[in-house]
Amino acid sequence: MQYLTIDGLTTNTIFAALIASILYVATYLSFVRLMRYPRNWHRPSLLGCIVTGGLAALSVGFVSLSPIGIDWAALAVSSCFIGTIFCLTAAPAIAFRPSSRVVEFIANHADYAGLVLSGTILLAASGLSNVKLIAVLTTALAIETTWFVRQRWYDRRRTLYPLKGRDLSVLKNQAKGDIAAFRRRHGIRELVLSNGVVSWKGCGKETPPCRFNFYVNRLGLNTAPCCREHMEELSNHIAAFLTELGAVYWLEGGSLLGAVRERGALLDWEDDVDISVLIDNELTWDRLEQGLVSRCAQKGYYVDVFKKKGFISISFDTPKKWPFKWERHRLPGEIRADIAVYRRATSHGKAVLERQSHKGAMQLTESGGYGVPQGMVLPTSTIGFLGGKFGCPSQSVSYLNELYGDFSKVEYTYVDAAAAHTRVAATHTPAAATLPPVAATLPSADVNQRSFDPTQ
Ligand SMILES: [Zn+2]
Repeated sequence: MQYLTIDGLTTNTIFAALIASILYVATYLSFVRLMRYPRNWHRPSLLGCIVTGGLAALSVGFVSLSPIGIDWAALAVSSCFIGTIFCLTAAPAIAFRPSSRVVEFIANHADYAGLVLSGTILLAASGLSNVKLIAVLTTALAIETTWFVRQRWYDRRRTLYPLKGRDLSVLKNQAKGDIAAFRRRHGIRELVLSNGVVSWKGCGKETPPCRFNFYVNRLGLNTAPCCREHMEELSNHIAAFLTELGAVYWLEGGSLLGAVRERGALLDWEDDVDISVLIDNELTWDRLEQGLVSRCAQKGYYVDVFKKKGFISISFDTPKKWPFKWERHRLPGEIRADIAVYRRATSHGKAVLERQSHKGAMQLTESGGYGVPQGMVLPTSTIGFLGGKFGCPSQSVSYLNELYGDFSKVEYTYVDAAAAHTRVAATHTPAAATLPPVAATLPSADVNQRSFDPTQ
């Protein structure tokens, strides 16, 4: 039975609009959840893709079908709209890997691009008189407006950090002396120029993160001081958690490189912290996961677990409550520590520690993982890093050589080639006196002007 209500709409029509709206929200949430994979450099799960694709197809089908047949205009508009807005939504997560200029451009404008798109399409589609389509577009507009307003609102909570030392000299160099023009050209809202002082509006736990995938990898700037500060806090807490759990762990990749070569500091262009943990009978995967999840919850860190990949990422931002929880995957950056697990294994007759994912030039093992000789890591030692004591391999220099070869060689693998080239002049330091003691033991002595990308 149908009842006429306001403006002649029937209860059935209102009910259909409500279902269309719910279907869109479910599709959107499923999609933003799926973005956890590209953010962490993993391929999306098949199940996640099927569920999200199925929900999207259901949304489009529901909007387009009626008792009198297919509404072809609604089919075209709804499918194009959902496809496009999800491309816009996905851009920041995809840009976590070095991406094309187009993806980067969209990622840099992703906080309002969806708002503009949904508003425009809603206006254009208002003449189609398909209430279900209007409901989908109105729902999308509401989601995008809420997202935009929240980002800009929390952005006001940033605090000023003066830029100095190498951070400032690299910025000046990359800006070719005109920081104001550089700021305008690249839309760097964090940069503040006042009375000759250059400052950075720094991120915090509640603000959107600095877009340092773009700032560091594309523009060749140093990691912002706020981000470095938060990485320091995050990694020290994680080290404390792992110690409480009795874990055998060690600094990995670029973090180990910073500890060894930069006297316990982060590399200037660091974008995450890498820590490896040994899983065995004493510390199982489940115990590690539960131990980290509960401790991180107390500290207000976001945790993402990829059990099949042997990987846990811990981020500095505060987890939001459902349904906003997964929207963080739209953010164009984050402060993160990556925990990769290793297991004991035998490969080609030798005892190795093995992980599932590729790291540097680590050797393939017989079982299809990647491994390092056990004796190179165990028993682990300790090394100063970010003001604390962290676990490290027993032979850290050999370990770094295993990963990167001559790890003091210039290799800005993920920094834009032009930006990397101009960085070299700014970061050149006659630093023989400032080199860490271990540098003297490196295979090649010339480490003064070198940099190395730790993220591969
Ligand atoms: Zn920051």
